[in-house]
Order: sequence, then C-alpha cells, then structure tokens
Amino acid sequence: MKPDGRPPEGHRAPRRVSMGRSGPMRRPHAPRPHPLHILVTAGPTREHIDPVRFLSNESSGRMGFAVAEAAARRGHRVTLVAGPVGLPTPAGVERCDVVSARQMLAQARKAFRSADALVMAAAVADYRPRRRWAGKWRVKDRRAESATLELVRNPDILATLGRDKARGRSRPPRRVVGFALETAQGDRRALAKLRHKNADWIVLNDDSALNAERASVILFGSDGSKRRLRRRSKRAIAEVLVELVES
Ligand code: C5P
Repeated sequence: MKPDGRPPEGHRAPRRVSMGRSGPMRRPHAPRPHPLHILVTAGPTREHIDPVRFLSNESSGRMGFAVAEAAARRGHRVTLVAGPVGLPTPAGVERCDVVSARQMLAQARKAFRSADALVMAAAVADYRPRRRWAGKWRVKDRRAESATLELVRNPDILATLGRDKARGRSRPPRRVVGFALETAQGDRRALAKLRHKNADWIVLNDDSALNAERASVILFGSDGSKRRLRRRSKRAIAEVLVELVES
C-alpha cells in the first residue's frame, strides 16, 4: 500500500463488469485492503474436426467457477476465461467465453498481463486435429473399417504463462496455481507438473472429482509444502485457493 492509501501499481481496484445471472446479488465481503486481479480459467476446450464434431475433455467447469466466485466475494477483480459450459457467471466476475485451447491461450495471455495471479482450472485438450474440415468429415462414405485422424499438439497455457510469470515491471512475481487430474502415480506426476509448468502450487485430484459437488485434493507447493483437503465442497476448496494466492 502506498502512503496515501492507494494500492501499488498492478493491484487495481475490483471492477464490477458483469453482474452475472446467478440470482439476487449477495452482498460482497468488505473490500480487501489489497484487491488483486485474479485470472481464472475453467471448463473444457473443444477442438473441432468439422462444424459438428470435436475432441474435448470431461469437465463441468464447477471448480474454476467456484474459484472465480470466491475471489470476487473477497473483493478481488476477477477475469474468468471459460470454455463451453452451461454455468451462470458469478456475481462481479468479468467473463470471456472461448472454445479452443488456442483461443483460451490468447485471452488468458491478454488478461495475464495485468493479473496478479492465475488459477488454471480448465481442462485443456492436449491435442487438436491437424485439419478442420469446412463441411462434415465424410469419412464413413469410404466404408473403411478404420480411419485415422491426425492430431497436433496444443500449446500448454499454464507452462506458457508460468514462463512469463517472473517478467513484468516493478511488481511481485505473479502467483500461479495449476491442476492435475491423475488416475495413477498422482504425487509423482503433480510434482513433475509443478516443476515443468513453473507453477507455485499444483492441486492434485482424481476422476471422482469430475462433475461432483465435493472433491478430495492435495495441494503441492513449490516450497515443498503438501496439504491434503478431504471430501470438501468445491466452494470450500476454492476459498483455500484464493487464500493461497493472497498470501
Ligand atoms: O499436463 P496436464 O494436462 O495434466 O496439466 C494440467 C494443468 O495444466 C492444468 O492446470 C491445465 O489447466 C493446464 N494445461 C494447460 N494447457 C494445456 C494442458 C494443460 O494450461 N495444453
């Protein structure tokens, strides 16, 4: 905080752009002394093969939306970059809808410039079809028993922004939280992601969290910390994550 009570550069006051559609506005918490700009990504991405078919990941978007809601409730400015999900915009959150991983990267990159923290909860498709057909892909007309779809790697948004995070004008390094959904060797893989993606925390969960109201997660910190949250609501997990990036 500056002597005149204004927040330092890069810490902007929360902006209420969209009031959301989630019913009557709940009274937000009293504004925090250091409101942050928090960028959250949520939901799946879709990688189109043609106008009607796509590759995607299972993801309801609920975890990311819960983080956005918790952050706005605590008085932060929140930009939510969302893949295709049927969820209402939480009150006080600025939302940008995207479809593909490349669109998500472009929007997230833009918002990350002025952000103090990133919570990357989106289930980004790792690969996309090399080609997108303008009309329907008429593969079955060939009556072949099998078909091959060539895929190319999508950019890793978290790793890209993780590399960018230390750069920036005279500001503290931005806090970066990533997720890992693993069905085996979770600890080892989460720790590898922490390093490779240059994140400050990785939230490890398993497939029981998909479309569920509650989840059991382990938070791995780049400082070597490990914290387990058992069967908590996504809302409660979201509160913990917002406290982490505030710390
Ligand atoms: O490597 P994996 O997909 O398991 O990593 C999960 C984390 O990386 C999540 O935070 C996810 O949002 C992010 N991710 C990404 N870009 C990708 C793939 C994953 O930002 N192409």
